[in-house]
Amino acid sequence: MLLVISAPSGAGKTTIAKEVLRQFPSFRFSVSATTRKKRPGEVDGKDYFFLSREEFERLLSEDGLVEHEEIYSEYYGTPKSEIDKAVTMGENVVFDVDVKGALSIKEKYPEAVLVFIRPPSVEALRERLKGRGSENAEQVERRLARVPMELEKGKLFDYIVVNNKLERAVKEVFDIVSMYSSKGDSGKELLNGTETN
Ligand code: ADP
Ligand code: 5GP
Repeated sequence: MLLVISAPSGAGKTTIAKEVLRQFPSFRFSVSATTRKKRPGEVDGKDYFFLSREEFERLLSEDGLVEHEEIYSEYYGTPKSEIDKAVTMGENVVFDVDVKGALSIKEKYPEAVLVFIRPPSVEALRERLKGRGSENAEQVERRLARVPMELEKGKLFDYIVVNNKLERAVKEVFDIVSMYSSKGDSGKELLNGTETN
């Protein structure tokens, strides 16, 4: 299963993706490449491959990325090697990418399952971003400016999970994963196009 989780920044996708990885040992995380600076606690090669602009551009010119986007003036991209490794090992993969990257992955891998994590409101999003404390006020506003586009593209996803109460949102994502594990594609018809929270 290629599970692609996207959301506006601060909606909780990293928190939810980590829970999936904890609960389902057959999943590995697709480590993206980025030119953005490392946040406290982040580990190179685990959270991201932190690259210089030159290194990122070299990877791109060598056709080493499945998709890439420039977001908040930084590059982010999914290395091909992350998918190749998982396919070789017969593992499932969780991707944490932006909405455009998710749709690009779906174009190349139509079997990918796209889950959009929606915040209960823009105000809640602002509060969560402030609470996380990893962006300054200007960066928070830049992230919020992208939300209307993200909500629009999110409508194209296979599933929309509203992250109001975290435990409930996590359970809904677990249910989606379990459905694919146990029933394959047949389970998708049950929820496709519906909001699950
Ligand atoms: P993203 O990866 O989408 O940018 P994070 O997972 O980093 O978002 O979550 C942003 C912040 O919101 C974090 O501080 C996280 O602990 C908090 N958070 C996540 N889900 C909820 C929730 N349902 N209610 C309140 N706070 C939440
Ligand atoms: P952050 O800086 O908060 O870690 O991530 C900012 C945005 O970049 C998030 O929406 C995140 O999902 C997205 N992102 C992370 N890795 C990738 C990637 O490989 N490709 C794309 N398109 N977006 C990514």
